[in-house]
Amino acid sequence: MTKVLIIGSGAREHALAQTFLKSPQVDEVIVTPGNDGMTDDHLRRVEIPVTNLIELRDFANQEHVDLTFVGNEEPLTLGIVDVFTEASLKIFGPTKKAAQLEGSKSFTKNILQKYNIPTAQSITVTSFNEANQAIAKFGFPIVFKLDGLALGKGVTIIENAADAQVYLEKLYTQNVDVKLVIEEYLKGVEFSVFTLVGQNGAMTHAPLAQDHKRRFDGDEGPNTGGMGAYSPVKWISDQIRQETIETLVNPTVKAMVEEHASFTGVLYTGVMLTEEGPKVIEFNVRFGDPEAQVVLPQFEGDFYQLILQLLSGEKPASHWQEEEVYVGVVLAAKGYPERPQKGAIVPQIPLVTNYAGVKLANTVLHANGGRVATVIAHDKNVKLAQEKVYNVLDKTPMDLQYRHDIAYQAVQKL
Ligand code: AMP
Repeated sequence: MTKVLIIGSGAREHALAQTFLKSPQVDEVIVTPGNDGMTDDHLRRVEIPVTNLIELRDFANQEHVDLTFVGNEEPLTLGIVDVFTEASLKIFGPTKKAAQLEGSKSFTKNILQKYNIPTAQSITVTSFNEANQAIAKFGFPIVFKLDGLALGKGVTIIENAADAQVYLEKLYTQNVDVKLVIEEYLKGVEFSVFTLVGQNGAMTHAPLAQDHKRRFDGDEGPNTGGMGAYSPVKWISDQIRQETIETLVNPTVKAMVEEHASFTGVLYTGVMLTEEGPKVIEFNVRFGDPEAQVVLPQFEGDFYQLILQLLSGEKPASHWQEEEVYVGVVLAAKGYPERPQKGAIVPQIPLVTNYAGVKLANTVLHANGGRVATVIAHDKNVKLAQEKVYNVLDKTPMDLQYRHDIAYQAVQKL
């Protein structure tokens, strides 16, 4: 009986569970804590919070879990991989030290600078005066990044001197000594590369993806966890993709080995394609949500086998499809991201749906958080996939909200 444990509760973890369930070797997938929308066959949910590392470890031991895969960043930066490894439990993800690539912007900036990996120029400061000196060097717009894990809320783009003063006065009166990374603003288009990194340099690069962080159509409105994504990004040439892997991803994996912080797990490289070439915007140490929902279905082999191969340092025989294009649209509760309203009925949608913030009441799923589900369609090209998903969504009466233009950049470039 082969059991896989997935840690997390979002649509990304639902997609991960479905990907593992396709493996002929896997008998059961357990998701902790999961959500009420995860009703797939051979999937079980157990209510353990993602931050309770000891309870998770003890549970994995009792259940004889064969492999654990961590969906979200919080347990990783808390050190779940160290805790599991110490208990001889197999887990795919970075150690606490390596997870700093996401957990600490200043750690990442130091590595990038030390190993000459292209990124925005930056200065890390810890006081109001230092911050003002740094601003003078870069001009506007300028980017402020809070050092710790901020669940997507730590980055602010500042347009002018007055806004900078307001930000800094507030920051340094409320928190003395807080670390702030001040960064040159990069102009360009963004995309993401997901690399599954194993032992001894074994790795596989998944198809490129692009997400849509802003709440409203045309990239307007507040930042969110992500309103939709598509993959592959075919308008990025193979040459740029190769350059990105060779100048950003591979050197980072090597640098981590040099720093005695070898990285295992999913390395998510956020890239800005600038006039000077691709540059690192950020790293995350897990799959993106909603990118996972459009990237993972393109894996054609046995995903469980892939992860085992990576963990044992074997060069994996991976099969990413990359022919068709996948478009995923996030359904969110009204009021998201500021004040998501609970309670709307979540309609049944006749397309692949990965659930997130939902709760079952009287046999019907209701919205129970910000992002409720990701609905996914795929087709021969991005336009057809986009039409397919919106033809269904636009005909489905619902009290939920979604963007109407996911993948617009790719459609414009067709
Ligand atoms: P991060 O959390 O570092 O990914 O930043 C969130 C978002 O802020 C990114 O996806 C970019 O859209 C934007 N951003 C971050 N750093 C920069 C930069 N140096 N120049 C321009 N935009 C940036």
